[in-house]
Amino acid sequence: MKFPKELIKELEKRYYKYLWKDNEELNYKEISSDLFKHLIFTILSQNTSSINTRRAYISLKKHYSIDPFTLSKLDPKELSEIIKPGGLHNIKANRIIKVSKFIVENYGGDLRKILSYPKEEIRKKLLEIDGIGEKTADVIMSSLFGQKEYFVVDTHMKRIAKRLGLVSEKANYSEIQKALKEFLPLEEDDEKIWLLFWFLAKYTCNAKKPKCKECILNNMCKYYKGKTIVPS
Ligand code: SF4
Repeated sequence: MKFPKELIKELEKRYYKYLWKDNEELNYKEISSDLFKHLIFTILSQNTSSINTRRAYISLKKHYSIDPFTLSKLDPKELSEIIKPGGLHNIKANRIIKVSKFIVENYGGDLRKILSYPKEEIRKKLLEIDGIGEKTADVIMSSLFGQKEYFVVDTHMKRIAKRLGLVSEKANYSEIQKALKEFLPLEEDDEKIWLLFWFLAKYTCNAKKPKCKECILNNMCKYYKGKTIVPS
């Protein structure tokens, strides 16, 4: 099963409005072009909404310089208060401090040194850092090499892949990643397609009440067909 390319325009029409815009407080280009800042932003985004992630990051930025040397020396309680708007602040504060310490101790405070490894080694090296899981590693890898190679699978992507019937309920991270890479027309513009499809997964195929009737993929969706086909 493939995402119909003729629906890309419709995807754009419906979901462009959700694209994050840079403002004075938050510059996404600056974040995504700095490996360490991107990593911290990704940790802050774990299990929370994009609004809360932005609030937590802006608060962090107002209080500290976002670099491994500064963050590794912080008191967990103090940091936790600063990033409170992001939720799970105690866990994330400890994680940020641990990750920062690791980068100071193993990369002299410069995460870009990781780029000296061959591409396939970089992901492994990222996963060696306590507090970085597959999703976080792939966020960083995709910022370096594109979604075509390192497709990011988060909770929204997992849910829609299963509902569409691209994978089984028990599929693991890499099975879902492979299925979505094959399904989506990433050769068109991998970053844009990933993001627009993510908006579809998050806002239309939402966890509690998917809006199947208005979904552009309902005619190919296993979940929707299961609900609408009347048994003979
Ligand atoms: S039809 Fe419903 S369940 Fe299927 S992808 Fe669309 S919103 Fe999700």
